[in-house]
Order: sequence, then structure tokens, then C-alpha cells
Amino acid sequence: MNRQYRLLLLLCATLAIAPIAHTSEDTLKIVATTTQAADLIGILSADVAGVEITALMGAGVDPHLYQPTESDIAAMNQAELVIYSGLRLEGQFEIVFAALSEQGIAIYPLSAPVEEAGFIIGGFDLSETLMDVADPHFWFDPRNWQLTAADLAETLAELDPANAALYRANAADYLEQLQLLYDWADEGLRSIDEGKRYLVTSHEAFQYFGAAFGWRMQSIQGLSTEDEAGVGDIQETVEFVIDNQIPVLFVESSIPPDTIEAVIEAVRAQGADARIGLRELFGDAMGEPDSFGGAYIGMLAQNALTIMQSYQCMGADVEIPDWPTGLLPQPPEDLWNADCDARSHA
Ligand SMILES: [Zn+2]
Repeated sequence: MNRQYRLLLLLCATLAIAPIAHTSEDTLKIVATTTQAADLIGILSADVAGVEITALMGAGVDPHLYQPTESDIAAMNQAELVIYSGLRLEGQFEIVFAALSEQGIAIYPLSAPVEEAGFIIGGFDLSETLMDVADPHFWFDPRNWQLTAADLAETLAELDPANAALYRANAADYLEQLQLLYDWADEGLRSIDEGKRYLVTSHEAFQYFGAAFGWRMQSIQGLSTEDEAGVGDIQETVEFVIDNQIPVLFVESSIPPDTIEAVIEAVRAQGADARIGLRELFGDAMGEPDSFGGAYIGMLAQNALTIMQSYQCMGADVEIPDWPTGLLPQPPEDLWNADCDARSHA
């Protein structure tokens, strides 16, 4: 039986046993799909008693390809609120989301306030026909994430009015943190010569990041990893790297490194020098929960640091600004003091 169809049947069956209503107990059950969503809901509901968060995807998981499991569906079915990234990032969840909302379960796409504000960037889906679609990676601009945090706090305040003040206070603190993060990353990333600011990655996850901090993007795959990279995509990237004398290319933590490695090999075969970045970038998934990159702020800061340091290691002039006082989490020493010789491969 087709997997999606089987999941749909399962969903219908579980909904039939336990329809809507969750008003019992004092627990507010919230399900978050991506690591970013889980981090945000955790921050906004800090110190609120009785909130139970279930995170579906772990570190390093690719949300474009992730299929909801039977226990994911059961958790969503029992939740009062399901928060997800939206704009089809969770490409395999569409049927489930439709069924959930038909059953009256509140589902909240984190992209909604950004879309409403008009900050969604277009892009191309490279599958079969070249289609103009909304780029789902909106969280990579911290100013978008501010909009999302503020709006989600209001949604929580409505759902749980007794704790409204706490959600709003948490959001206000977090918006300030995100501002410190944005200012720090912006100063550092713009310290590199404008003509040298190219971010070459496996898939098109960083358009918003580029737009936020003044970098030009080039990727091998399109907006979704559902589109497989072809020989033509690799060749095109090789030419782009050589033409623009780009010294460093980046692998993403949620995507296998082969395509980037193939580009580097081909660039070198043509006598140009290009290397892999000092560390992987966090693309669509953050790091392990207890690591620096396991929080949104750490994830974005680590990406910015990795880019700045990787360019610095290749001889570019980069001014990495001091870490802002009061911005948490604090980057660990070994991350802050990069060792240019420590790059693991290529
Ligand atoms: Zn993506």
C-alpha cells in the first residue's frame, strides 16, 4: 500500500477514536515539526507550567524529505497546537496537516506572519517543470524570526490566556536577543569585501540569509532537496565558482556532501583552488539539543562564524566583531578560535 495513503488511513482511524477536545488536565500539548520550531516554542513557553512539547525531527534531519511516522501522527492528533515551518518545507506532511485542520486541531505555520508582512522571497523549484515557488527558508533572516516569535507568542496567549503575560514577556526578551544576533552577524559578514561575498552551498537554503547580510548565493540543488542534483547543475556551479574565483564552498549538515565535493574536485581539476568550509553549515536542521548549534541563536551565529572564518582562512580580510554582552548562548572557545589547518577533508 502506498505509504501516504496508509498514513492517511491511520490518521483517520486515530481521529475517529479520539476526536478534537483536549480540555482535560492542565497540560497544554504542543507538537513542533522542525528543530527551529521546537526551539522557538521552548523559548516562548519557558517558565509556563504544564506545557508539554513534542519535537518530531531531530538534529541533522532533512525536513523536505522527512516522512511523519505513526507515532508522530498520534502525537499531532493528541495535541492542542501543532506548529510547523510552512511554505511546503515539510513536503511530506501536506495530507496530514489537511486532515488535522479538518478535525479542528490548531495548526500554525511559522511562516505566516512573515508572509503577511510581505517578506517571502520567490525562487525556483527545479523539479520536472521550472516552477516559481515561495522559498520556505525564511527563518535565516533573524528579523523574520522576530516577526514569527512575536506572532506565535500572541497565538499562545490566546490559546492559554492565563499565561498570556509570560508568553509576551518571553517574546519581548527574545526579540532583543535576536536583534543583538542580527547586528553582530551583519557587522561581521559585511566586513568582507562586497565583491567576494559568495555563499555556495548544496541546496538553496540561504537566500534569506544572503539577503539579510548582503551575500550572493549559488547552490547546486533548488529550493527543495526533493529535486536531485544533475550533472548540469554541478557543471554550472563549477563554472560559477571559477568565474567568480570563489575560494570556499559549504556543505550543509542535513545533506550528504557528495555534490559539493564533486564541484571542488572539478574546480581543482581545472587548476583553480577551492576548499570546503571549516565546518558544515546548519541548513534546514539545527545541531544536537545541548550543543551551541542546537539553539536558533547558536545555529545562526555558528553559520556566520563558519563563513567568516573559512574566508579568513583563505586569506580574505574579515573583522569578526566581539560577541555581544548578554547574548546567549555564548560560543564555545574552540568555535571562536578557529584552526585553519583543522579542516577535516578536501
Ligand atoms: Zn531546504
